Amino acid sequence: MVVAQRYGEGHRILLTGGAGFVGSHLADALIARGVHVVVVDNFITGSKDNVAHLHDHPRFTLVEADVTEPLPALDALAGRFDAIMHFASPASPTDFEQIPVEILRVGSLATLQLLERAVADGARFIMASTSEAYGDPLVHPQPESYWGNVNPIGIRSVYDEAKRFSEAAVMGYHRGRGADVGIVRIFNTYGERMRPDDGRAIPTFVSQALRGEAITVHGTGTQTRSICYVSDLVRGILLLLDSTETGPINCGTEHEMTMLELAESIVRLCGSSSRVALVSRTADDPERRRPDLTKARELLGFEPMIGPEEGLARTVAYFRSR
Ligand code: NAD
Repeated sequence: MVVAQRYGEGHRILLTGGAGFVGSHLADALIARGVHVVVVDNFITGSKDNVAHLHDHPRFTLVEADVTEPLPALDALAGRFDAIMHFASPASPTDFEQIPVEILRVGSLATLQLLERAVADGARFIMASTSEAYGDPLVHPQPESYWGNVNPIGIRSVYDEAKRFSEAAVMGYHRGRGADVGIVRIFNTYGERMRPDDGRAIPTFVSQALRGEAITVHGTGTQTRSICYVSDLVRGILLLLDSTETGPINCGTEHEMTMLELAESIVRLCGSSSRVALVSRTADDPERRRPDLTKARELLGFEPMIGPEEGLARTVAYFRSR
């Protein structure tokens, strides 16, 4: 399947969360295609630094606003958008504990508001969902047809259930209001512009290794994740944007590794002498994670290209330079 590019020069796209890790890379890729990108971000977990290089670009507009509130009446937000990409949401384990209500609001109120706007504009709506929609999966690897195993009141539930609500809202607007929609279920992604202190494994391990501190691996370290370098994810998201697929479609890589293997790779790439320290496991931490990429391949022609050695080396170089 080859998906032809649908969005490029002359198009205007509203991107929420565009000052975050994934959003800022997405903004770069859209601008490189000739799109005018309007980012709305309140910087709760993102940073102006992530988009500072775009500041003077004629096709980039940054609006500081909370997308759970009505969008401000600014010229930049008036006029029709060709697509709306909803990527605003805190996404790290420390956020689940510290800002649970903000996560619930951006995954519910903001999604509804933005879907209304997409219907009014006749815009394609792309929603950033997550592998967390599968919870602690009982099926492995996870195909999109698996409904998941989520604790609805656990510490992670504000994120998992908000994303599941967003998916339901997207499908509801698709079926009930004719919205043109696409849902991408993103698996663990890493790369430049992650926050070193956000509690996710890769930035934590890299920061610890560069400082020569113990690498804190949760539990026995045998739990697995399949890690995806951000440029691969962005390519997959753009394929979904250009397609007419509704999804949900998994996006990530099939390269599954244990947390111990990940920690060891990072220590080696950092040239560090850090040792691994096992610490207690967080509640509802999924045991295994690997996407079934059949749909992404067949419907979008998606194939990840950057292996963990190369992606982790680039990420280490970024953190070292900071
Ligand atoms: P991030 O925290 O770096 O980016 C999120 C951005 O959203 C930040 O810039 C933040 O300030 C902004 N934001 C949050 N709430 C907002 C609000 N109410 N109004 C305006 N802006 C708001 O996280 P990320 O890793 O880049 O994640 C981006 C999206 O991708 C999220 O929706 C996340 O759920 C999804 N996702 C990411 C991963 C991953 O591995 N990085 C995995 C699955 C899903």
